[in-house]
Amino acid sequence: MHSIVYNYIELCKDKAFTGIDDPRVIQGVHLSDSEEAYVCFTFDDGPTSNYTPQILDILNKHQAKATFFIFGRFATEHPEIIRRIAKEGHELGNHTYSHPDLTSLDFAAIEREILEAEQAIQSIVDYRCKLFRPPYGIFSPETVGVVEALQYKFALWSRDVQAYDWELPGVDKMAEEVLSHVCNGSIILLHDAGGNREQTVELVDRVIPILKSRNYHFITMSELLAQSV
Ligand SMILES: [Zn+2]
Repeated sequence: MHSIVYNYIELCKDKAFTGIDDPRVIQGVHLSDSEEAYVCFTFDDGPTSNYTPQILDILNKHQAKATFFIFGRFATEHPEIIRRIAKEGHELGNHTYSHPDLTSLDFAAIEREILEAEQAIQSIVDYRCKLFRPPYGIFSPETVGVVEALQYKFALWSRDVQAYDWELPGVDKMAEEVLSHVCNGSIILLHDAGGNREQTVELVDRVIPILKSRNYHFITMSELLAQSV
């Protein structure tokens, strides 16, 4: 059923990895060098009542936009945060309803997970997600087919900028990684849920002004994808 299982997080740990050979799978955008540069911060697994509002405050303070890949069940628990994300001009992406490993499910169940998450979001805000990100970065080519048939883009992140914020490596280490590897078109994976995210909050507040001073603009993932065409 699932012909190959990709674990993107594990694959990215291999320095020799050059990306998944499937043009349907977005693994960063490469924009040419120019005066103005663009980057997208993505936050997975929220919303949470403690970290998501802090991140939104920081994004507001720096006039930055971002993309939030929403855990559907948490959307139901925190509708006011979903409304706030949308109202403040950020992008909402679909990250399933209950965050399963999609390769453990049959195709009908994958479809249900995605549609349930979409319904959870749509019951709160008048919004239709354009992007889908698979939980744990684990998927198969067939999963991509299901997602595309439902009219989403299959949205991973840049393999060459990895903060690994869920491993709590410390703000200094994450900031160094981001600041030394970011390039025009980077899509950076971060989390606003799933454990203690104080380091992530601090990282975002620290690196945004530095990157802005290097002429980086913080835009949503769909805006970034539009820049590449
Ligand atoms: Zn996730």
